[in-house]
Amino acid sequence: MSHSLHEIPEVTIVGAGLAGCEAAVQLARRGVRVRLSEMKPKKRTPAQTSDTLAELVCSNSLRGASLTNAVGLLKEELRLSGSVVMKAALKTRVPAGGALAVDRERFSPLMTELVRSEPGIELVCAEVETIPAERPVILATGPLTSDALAADLALHVGQEHLAYYDAIAPIVSADSIDFGIAWRQSRYDKGGNDYVNCPLSRDEYDAFVAALLAAEKVKPREFEQVRYFEGCLPVEVMAERGHETLAFGPMKPVGLVDPRTGKRPHAVVQLRPEDEAMTAYNLVGFQTRMTWPEQRRVLGTIPGLAQAEFLRFGAVHRNTFVDAPVLLDGTMQLRALPGVYLAGQLAGVEGYVESAAGGLLCGIFLAQALLGQAVTPPPATTALGGIMTHLARRQDKGRYQPSNLTWAHLPPMDLGQKRMKKPARYALLAERALAELAPWLVAIGSPEPSGPPFATPPDDAAPEGSGCRTGT
Ligand SMILES: Cc1cc2nc3c(=O)[nH]c(=O)nc-3n(C[C@H](O)[C@H](O)[C@H](O)COP(=O)(O)OP(=O)(O)OC[C@H]3O[C@@H](n4cnc5c(N)ncnc54)[C@H](O)[C@@H]3O)c2cc1C
Repeated sequence: MSHSLHEIPEVTIVGAGLAGCEAAVQLARRGVRVRLSEMKPKKRTPAQTSDTLAELVCSNSLRGASLTNAVGLLKEELRLSGSVVMKAALKTRVPAGGALAVDRERFSPLMTELVRSEPGIELVCAEVETIPAERPVILATGPLTSDALAADLALHVGQEHLAYYDAIAPIVSADSIDFGIAWRQSRYDKGGNDYVNCPLSRDEYDAFVAALLAAEKVKPREFEQVRYFEGCLPVEVMAERGHETLAFGPMKPVGLVDPRTGKRPHAVVQLRPEDEAMTAYNLVGFQTRMTWPEQRRVLGTIPGLAQAEFLRFGAVHRNTFVDAPVLLDGTMQLRALPGVYLAGQLAGVEGYVESAAGGLLCGIFLAQALLGQAVTPPPATTALGGIMTHLARRQDKGRYQPSNLTWAHLPPMDLGQKRMKKPARYALLAERALAELAPWLVAIGSPEPSGPPFATPPDDAAPEGSGCRTGT
């Protein structure tokens, strides 16, 4: 069944950041009228410094541009999907080695111009303090959602499902763990052998605690003077409380026996699988404010992790987001409030590019539904599909944490007995993703790409460009 255009309701979007602008443009291009409310210039979040839309509040990098990089693939998929954020990024690109970085002084003004020039979008300057009564509505107010709206959202979804801070433990790839040292065992052998354990002797523990205390940490910004929750203190804050605090906390060795010695080690770092295929593991209880290089150095002293490949680094920062797997359906709609959608960081993704991707998907899904078309989620094998996988995946025994996109969000490929170096494996994943994206692009109306191809060849193993938020 298809609707005639005059029957299609207008969509209200709150927040003209990366996700809100992207969703608005995707809807408007498909013939759906949008009312986009943004509190700037009347009011800014503590991180904003300009009055333009889709402001990049920290780094000017959209991270890696290579197809052997999960976020590089995501950007290529966004380009092919006609993303407005990618259009502005490609037009304002500055040289940045293996990364796609932009001139921020030109990026946000261009985004403002592109949104303003889109017929069908009405831009309104207003702080929205409660969830608007109009339906459908997309809330895309980001990690620093203003207090009144966050409080109203908490009333509707339950305080326990809305977070204001984010305490993230690092994630390492499974094949970078040294299983000559680490072993699989659950505490007291209860619940299978899902956990991986890295043992520390007393001397190794003493040296680790000393390195942790001395390591450089990311300084919180003024508005980030975090009052830590006792349940998820950064690992260095625990170490400051006493030399043995960690050995009685996240590094407790009880119920574990090192098969190499037949004894219980002095301390243990436990790793828990991130995905069903067990390609990635998080360091349980290791949320940290150490800078990225320091995480690599200090956590690399843990026996079994000397060669660890970090898929995500730890962090603690101000962030408003919901428990997506519990609250959202497969179209980013709040199960408990039909007609209310969340997009971007508020929905539980992390990062500029991931927020734009969330906005694009939310806008396309909603346009399809309003136009009476079948809603078509992207294939799980694509980077865009990986965003949806993350929003649906329960982690950490139910405690949801936002994440940048990593290869662990895409199903692994069956390579049989073949052993392959990582860049070659990632290139195959990217090839599969782009092949499977093609029919999806047709299903969403064969959009015009946002600009010329930008991705560097798959064999480029240049490190990602990065953001100050993440501590580099
Ligand atoms: C301090 C900080 C630094 C960050 N640095 C990086 C980085 O370097 N690299 C990276 O990849 N990611 C970074 N992020 C994470 C994140 O990717 C970005 O914040 C990203 O901009 C999120 O996109 P969004 O569209 O969800 O929200 P935003 O881009 O924040 O957009 C939300 C918009 O909603 C508006 N708004 C808020 N409340 C209301 C309201 N009640 N009514 C009307 N409008 C409202 C805001 O003014 C804003 O324009 C950072 C986040 C923070 C907080």
